[in-house]
Amino acid sequence: MAKQNNLHCSFCGRSRDEVKILIAGQEGHICENCVEHAEEIIAQELTAKNNPASTGGAVQIRKPKEIKQFLDEYVIGQDEAKKILCVAVYNHYKRVNNKQKVDDVEIEKSNIIMVGETGTGKTLLAKSIARLLNVPFAIVDATVFTEAGYVGEDVESMLTRLLQNCNYDVTAAERGIVYVDEIDKIARKGDNPSITRDVSGEGVQQGLLKMLEGTEVLVPPQGGRKHPEQKMIKVDTKNILFICGGAFDGIDKVIARRINTNAIGFSVNKDEQEMQRSNLLEFINAQDLKSFGLIPELLGRLPVVTHLNPLDAATLRSILTEPKNSLIKQFTKLFEMEGIKLTIEPAVLDFMVAKAMEYKLGARGLRSICESILTEAMFELPGTETTSLNVTLDYAEKMFSKSKLSALKVA
Ligand code: ADP
Repeated sequence: MAKQNNLHCSFCGRSRDEVKILIAGQEGHICENCVEHAEEIIAQELTAKNNPASTGGAVQIRKPKEIKQFLDEYVIGQDEAKKILCVAVYNHYKRVNNKQKVDDVEIEKSNIIMVGETGTGKTLLAKSIARLLNVPFAIVDATVFTEAGYVGEDVESMLTRLLQNCNYDVTAAERGIVYVDEIDKIARKGDNPSITRDVSGEGVQQGLLKMLEGTEVLVPPQGGRKHPEQKMIKVDTKNILFICGGAFDGIDKVIARRINTNAIGFSVNKDEQEMQRSNLLEFINAQDLKSFGLIPELLGRLPVVTHLNPLDAATLRSILTEPKNSLIKQFTKLFEMEGIKLTIEPAVLDFMVAKAMEYKLGARGLRSICESILTEAMFELPGTETTSLNVTLDYAEKMFSKSKLSALKVA
């Protein structure tokens, strides 16, 4: 009996009288409080393992080659941009995970700027990287921001989106990725600093500076304009990776001027002109972006510059079928769920690509073209006995000509 009273929890030391339950093990005992505590620890550890970012744990870095392999599954071509991105992202998270300065060498942040026509995969690249690394991700449009004090959104509100996307988990957001689209639209108008105010151009660039470099920002939880009564969330942007993208229309001429080539007039063939534009983009550097109207201070905080090539017919054709979640795979799946085996003749794929090129819809247009051809079947077939659908060129042409898309004027 006396021995019974001496029993205590081997974890917290509480005696038998102080606890409700004492569970016996081979060499000791555990009380209900310690069981509960252990359960909490297990839950936390498991979340940390499944989602390193959400607990402030280190992001599980992937080697540049592994990141590229993953990107190859979703994004067609754009090899050079992929390589540069993979290295920049790898270095960024190495820097984030390695908090101590090694021999006083502080690694600087490698925010990235991508130049390439709209619909060439800039957003898709940034989004895919965030998905692989399992870090919070937000897409924001630079055109909605204006200089503080003017109508529009404060630049800080871009972090609202990031916070919302990770359920306001600040630690996770602080290791996230923000994709700033249409960065070219906030270029300074005219090359010399103007006397009139440029609230949506240079003013916004100034606003972005500190944030890109790393600073503590007070973020309005619901976005929009800050106002005094609002409770703000403090976010440190030191470890947030900013990837900026823009089409920078006309930058080929700036590059040509710099490398002393004449960009216009030496080819009448449209395809060749596209090729030349893409070749010129290969030579893009910060100086060209500065001539375009980005301020040098901002460019200093976007040290990695890369470009995306315009999509030619062969690439569009691959985009239709090759990515892991390609459009054709998605539609095939949709039909499969109805018990219908969908087959599409190769000539139809060429037709889709030809229409996307003709109507200048790019990769984004492929979806609407697919839909214009398949919607009728997706409406009619469910609930019938049909078990297969073979889409021929005739069928595709007929469906497309009935659709609204075909009414578009070719520019
Ligand atoms: P951007 O940001 O350059 O304007 P997006 O990344 O938003 O273009 O691309 C629009 C859509 O087009 C994507 O969702 C994707 O379906 C498709 N797409 C564009 N480029 C590619 C590519 N290189 N590989 C695969 N799909 C692509």
